[in-house]
Amino acid sequence: MSWAVGFDDHWQRDIGYGVPAICDYPSCNEKIDRGLSYVCCGEEPYGGDEGCGLYFCTKHHNGIGGKCIRCEWHQNPFKSKPDIKEWMDWKLADDSWREWRKSLTTAEIRHFLWLYQDGYCRDCHKFVTEKQAHLHEVVPRGKGGKISLENSIILCADCHIGPKGAHGNRRPKFLKIVLDKIPESE
Ligand SMILES: [Zn+2]
Ligand SMILES: [Zn+2]
Ligand SMILES: [Zn+2]
Ligand SMILES: [Zn+2]
Repeated sequence: MSWAVGFDDHWQRDIGYGVPAICDYPSCNEKIDRGLSYVCCGEEPYGGDEGCGLYFCTKHHNGIGGKCIRCEWHQNPFKSKPDIKEWMDWKLADDSWREWRKSLTTAEIRHFLWLYQDGYCRDCHKFVTEKQAHLHEVVPRGKGGKISLENSIILCADCHIGPKGAHGNRRPKFLKIVLDKIPESE
């Protein structure tokens, strides 16, 4: 295949041999890439008709290009793993991803950063679910900041709008407008 990076709509992840990743087998941390030699199954894009389209190291493939154990036994697929930090850092910083960064909606920024921070609040390091996560602009809009990947972090509600949070009791009206715009995810 000629592409290095593509997108898998089903698993909502970047794919291709240019994408470093870890094996999707639950307890495995083997480093691979999302190229066709690791996809389940048959080296077909997105796993073809019989594969789950997840990516496995050679140990968790039934032979190169084979099926994962779940597909082998006709069971539901494993849960997909999120992208690794190395890849997210690349998308956050590299010029070639500039247009992508600019194209993101607020919900997409929030989703990316929540994954990037492993669900932990940047201030107190408490875990928050994606639904509980607050997106905070580091440089406020009044001072030229905007909602963007580069200018945003994930905080818990306390660290964001609690009395000792980033906004404290300041500008509650403005904040409410921002929070109302954040769509609820499942
Ligand atoms: Zn499979
Ligand atoms: Zn593995
Ligand atoms: Zn917090
Ligand atoms: Zn904020």
